[in-house]
Amino acid sequence: MKCLVLGSAAGGGFPQWNCACRGCTRARSGDPAARPRTQVSVAATHDGAHWLLIGASPDLRQQILQTPALFPSEGARHSPIASVVLLSADVDGIAGLLVLREQQALRIYAPAPILAILAQNQIFAALDSRIVERIELAPNTPIEAVPGLTLTLLPMPGKIPLYQEDRKSAVAEPGATYAARLDGAGRCAIIAPACAEYSDIVQQSLAPAHVLMFDGTLFTDDEMIASNVGQKTGRRMGHMPVSGADGSLAKLSAHAGRCIYLHINNTNPILLDDSLERAEVLAAGVDVAYDGMEIDV
Ligand SMILES: [Zn+2]
Repeated sequence: MKCLVLGSAAGGGFPQWNCACRGCTRARSGDPAARPRTQVSVAATHDGAHWLLIGASPDLRQQILQTPALFPSEGARHSPIASVVLLSADVDGIAGLLVLREQQALRIYAPAPILAILAQNQIFAALDSRIVERIELAPNTPIEAVPGLTLTLLPMPGKIPLYQEDRKSAVAEPGATYAARLDGAGRCAIIAPACAEYSDIVQQSLAPAHVLMFDGTLFTDDEMIASNVGQKTGRRMGHMPVSGADGSLAKLSAHAGRCIYLHINNTNPILLDDSLERAEVLAAGVDVAYDGMEIDV
């Protein structure tokens, strides 16, 4: 199995259009140690010809243009992208579907609550249902998403999208966010861009991963407040921090397989190649994803 990181940043990307935090300012200046990153998406394949997208990033058009493996190669209209799985209904997880209009056949896999949000938003009718199939996927139920790759949705502790918070409670509820487990030829990759808590159940469901790509949104829980760019903690946004006794780094350093942070917010100093926080993560044996990163699982 091969995975390509199309985008490694959290919502807003790096730099974010309206952000002048330390990291965004360095990225905007062309600092080679502050490499720009697009909003999170991963592509996976077993046969090299059929690809599954994990997440439909708002930056998907740019990501495809930067990835020759996803270029059309058969006839006048073609795409190696055969399927997309949606892990949350956040803007940075679904807006890229609109990039995939243009009468191209593909399959969208998602759990019922996310399909319901697509159905409520008429703009997604731009994807003609006669050629773009929407397939409901129950949690913990494997399905062959592309030839040779089995996809399973793993429920994660998380939060409903920000734009729905006026309608429902803002606390974690079932069906809000998922990880994608991919199995092929005895190898397992799990992509978990959002996880509010590394509970025992989460630990058990992630344990089989030879490669685990995990929520690296914030280094410290109050990072956005300390950076003067927001009032919310990471946990309030459904993301556990990297650092601290109950942070993700302590958990991932005990994981048997390879671990890679992705979905990294622009305020997180692990984005900076020369930061102490990056060094701390690498010293614990965990990698930091970048756009274009190739992973042989
Ligand atoms: Zn910023």
